[in-house]
Amino acid sequence: MTRRTKIICTIGPASSSSAVLKDMIRAGMDVARIGMAHSSIDEGLELSRAIRSAAADVGRPVGVLVDLPGPKIRVGAFDEDGVELATDSTILLGVGNDASTATEVNVDYEGLLIDVQAGDDLAFGDGGVVASVLQRKGDRLEARITSGGIVRGRPGVHIPSERLSLASPTDDDLVMLDAFLEEGVDMVALSFVRSGSDVRRVATEPHPRGPLIVAKIECRAAVDNLDGIIEESGAIMVARGDLGAECSLAELPHLQKEIIRRCIAAGLPVITATQMLETMIESPSPTRAEASDVANAVFDGTSAVMLSGETAIGKHPVRVVETMAEIASRADEKFDHSAWAERLQAMHLVGATDPAAAITNAMTAAAARACDELDIAAILAISGSGFTVRSMARFRPRANILGFTANSNTFRQLTSSWGTVPMEFESGPSYEDRVQEAVRRAVESGHVKPGDLVGVLAGIALSGAATDVFRLVRVT
Ligand code: PEP
Repeated sequence: MTRRTKIICTIGPASSSSAVLKDMIRAGMDVARIGMAHSSIDEGLELSRAIRSAAADVGRPVGVLVDLPGPKIRVGAFDEDGVELATDSTILLGVGNDASTATEVNVDYEGLLIDVQAGDDLAFGDGGVVASVLQRKGDRLEARITSGGIVRGRPGVHIPSERLSLASPTDDDLVMLDAFLEEGVDMVALSFVRSGSDVRRVATEPHPRGPLIVAKIECRAAVDNLDGIIEESGAIMVARGDLGAECSLAELPHLQKEIIRRCIAAGLPVITATQMLETMIESPSPTRAEASDVANAVFDGTSAVMLSGETAIGKHPVRVVETMAEIASRADEKFDHSAWAERLQAMHLVGATDPAAAITNAMTAAAARACDELDIAAILAISGSGFTVRSMARFRPRANILGFTANSNTFRQLTSSWGTVPMEFESGPSYEDRVQEAVRRAVESGHVKPGDLVGVLAGIALSGAATDVFRLVRVT
């Protein structure tokens, strides 16, 4: 069975060579993420070109996702060999970029002394090391390490988002965005957005002409304003690293489920991110708990699972993709499609206000019902913007979704859609031409065979935006 859950890999020093990129694509990477918190614009552009070229060589579509850092705050560098911030030790936090030690930690945030208050918790890196602020001492803040650990290099510092006076996207984000728009980037992630109006500030052309905008849910305000953010975004990421620093860890699994549920109801791809196979940064195999985490994210309904440090700086970048693909595929096999249909009924699907989109949603609902009642081998969704495909994917049908499009941006943006095989195609101008060509390509690519029943979603009028026909075709 084809894997349904998509895999997103962060590219870094461990994975930026052409050979490793190609092996990661062969192992199952669907989308490559460039984290701009760690790269200059030129390095990011170079990576984006290397990913495109590796995908062309392997002959598989790979989406490029550029992750803009937002108001990312970092510490002055710790020794690369690692420095222990011991539990119960006391540190002094100052403003600046000078090197940090086990007792003096510098933070590159001018507003530190004004915004941060006694009682606030600051988390370093992915949240394992936490300092609780005790009091201001001159031009420093005294803090106690409440959860100790080793820190190295320049980890990010999580300051509670309600304290931050910095807005997202930042001016630097918008400069980076311009460079990647010229490059024709497929997807852009926004960090630390708090509301739909933050997302609107990127003001790119709507996808597929512009990139699919992925809003990262990583602060309390974003959870509170989730519906507004979903309305303005093309996809959502459950950014568990920062979100876990902002809410209690006991609450995090429930937030993950709730965010995924609301994205699916609205027909948006949703990515579950951070520490999924974290121990594989060092070790050749994951923990049992990590394997379960990946499978459970699939059962929650996530569209994609993401690797961060595992592929960016880890020792086994290809093996970790193989491992994730194996766990996700097995979970896909066990996915309860029938129970999903019932869950969706209870879910109150977000209706489309646009009349064309409402027609498409009605057609994909009909297709989902047919998939339940008939033995349908594949849904062939012919789509300009990808909307029809995403609307179909939310039903999580057992049948494969083949997402046919003549638009090369849509083709690559579909790499993040659950259960979808992106298919670029050209056809004659009529509805009948498009249907026949899609069926022919589905057979040629081995996804269906003569005798199979397929469902075809398409628009009968080329000028209209709506997919207004669902048709069953017996392949001859
Ligand atoms: C996260 O916080 O989980 C996340 C994905 O964001 P970043 O890696 O940019 O910190």
